[in-house]
Amino acid sequence: MQCICGKCQHEWFARKKGIPRRCPECHSELWNGLREAKTKKYDFASLEVGQSKVIPWPEKTEHGAKIQFALNMFSYRTKRKFYRQGTNNGLFVQRIK
Ligand SMILES: [Zn+2]
Repeated sequence: MQCICGKCQHEWFARKKGIPRRCPECHSELWNGLREAKTKKYDFASLEVGQSKVIPWPEKTEHGAKIQFALNMFSYRTKRKFYRQGTNNGLFVQRIK
């Protein structure tokens, strides 16, 4: 698995299965969350106040936490506030501020 740290941009190849916990260069545990938030994978930015969307859960349930982490990072960075609730189909996200 090719990995790029969202914090220090270090690139490395993870030999173990699964997502590495830390970046081997800067030792940040947030390396992947930063990257997800950066890539706008979930497109929180397009939500206007009052609008909502359901982000489908990833195939692997443990990746569900990454969506919420990316949303937390985005919310923190942009000072926007989001209501969120888990549903059967995915994570319901509504922008409230
Ligand atoms: Zn790093």
